[in-house]
Amino acid sequence: MTYTKIVVPSEGQRITVREGKLNVPDNPILLWIEGDGIGPDIMTASKRIWDAAVAAVYGGQRKISWMEIYAGEKAAGLFGGDYFPAESLNAIREFQVGIKGPLTTPIGGGFRSLNVTLRIDLDLYACVRPVKWFPGVPSPLRRPDQVDVVIYRENTEDVYAGVEYKAGSPEAMKVERFLKDEMGAKFFANSGIGIKPISEFGSKRLVRKAFVYALEHGRRSVTFMHKGNIQKYTEGAFMQWGYEVARQEYGDVTITEQQLWDEFGGVQPAGKLLVKDRIADIMFQQMLLRPSEYDVIATPNLNGDYLSDAVAAEVGGVGIAPGANIGDTMAIFEATHGTAPKYANQDKVNPGSLLLSGVMMLDYIGWGEAARAVEAAFTRTVADKIVTYDFARQMEGAHEARTSEFATAVIARL
Ligand code: NAP
Repeated sequence: MTYTKIVVPSEGQRITVREGKLNVPDNPILLWIEGDGIGPDIMTASKRIWDAAVAAVYGGQRKISWMEIYAGEKAAGLFGGDYFPAESLNAIREFQVGIKGPLTTPIGGGFRSLNVTLRIDLDLYACVRPVKWFPGVPSPLRRPDQVDVVIYRENTEDVYAGVEYKAGSPEAMKVERFLKDEMGAKFFANSGIGIKPISEFGSKRLVRKAFVYALEHGRRSVTFMHKGNIQKYTEGAFMQWGYEVARQEYGDVTITEQQLWDEFGGVQPAGKLLVKDRIADIMFQQMLLRPSEYDVIATPNLNGDYLSDAVAAEVGGVGIAPGANIGDTMAIFEATHGTAPKYANQDKVNPGSLLLSGVMMLDYIGWGEAARAVEAAFTRTVADKIVTYDFARQMEGAHEARTSEFATAVIARL
């Protein structure tokens, strides 16, 4: 592949894919998108920490070769107004793994959200959001230490499929006529109409990813969160397809709640993953009141969107919640907050969300030792009460650090 603005680093090697598995060299080329607004501040700080951790852990044996690709305002400046140039998408297809800062979606007609473009065009169908508490991080819960979940949110269908018609438009009226005249549906005239497609294929591949993660990481349960009591053929079907995957593909290593009580007296046997489901509304309540009962959660797109931010708020908020969009092999890790433009270039905000997304990326490429080192140093820094403004305003006796100072403090604790 040839690129016009992107420069492929000469010293690094490509990550390759063989039989659906990543083959990661010791000097892999990893992609980075700087991001808009606070993006440059948090990306600079985080890259310093990841590089220092890799150097400290592998003593020069391994090294990341960073390759910048462009999206958002920086891309628009370089590519004549194009916010997501084709060569950036091509680079992701070629190099497989990367990390991005937050991106502005320009307001006004004709612009598709850059995040939606990424997810749909590259078929990054699993949005993965691990949420756990780090000691010292301010939380509204009495026992935030009980929160340790990984949310697998379906990323490509549901109401995000973009099948939506404005009230009164010819399209909406045509759909309305069809639904009323031919299908016998009843609803108010001149409604806006949205369609919610949820497929067996899309649901099963997402649920499969959640099972693989849960089994590889020794997790105790996978919960399907759904609204199947009302939306039987979409959310309810998601749950049923989930149980089908459990039974047909992981039957020897999973048990249902029914089996737990009928066959094991309520005591989960070693080596068996518990599969359960919860209706979305009670899930929100239980994640506040009994978070320790949940572990890996698989859910359709909209539920996952709401739940992941709500649960993140239990343990420190968007400033430290990491995330990833993962397909069959390609993956883009990302800060889950936006560009916070009022803080742009002030060296002020929390780099935690992007930093911990990088921890996920290091795990993804199999560099778990470096990932644990970053996580441990981050934990120690916060425990020492060296934090950015967002935590400092909620903590007594905190030392408020700039973004770059926070990074220096983390590196000192590697
Ligand atoms: P936002 O950028 O996430 O900022 C909302 C507030 O969250 C900030 O004012 C700040 O709160 C807090 N915050 C965000 N990041 C933080 C950090 N790293 N450290 C500490 N606090 C942080 O949301 P927004 O203002 O609604 O959106 C701004 C732009 O970002 C929009 O153009 C939107 O489209 C875009 N966006 C992009 C993504 C993405 O690329 N993934 C996601 C969401 C939004 P305080 O003011 O209380 O300090």
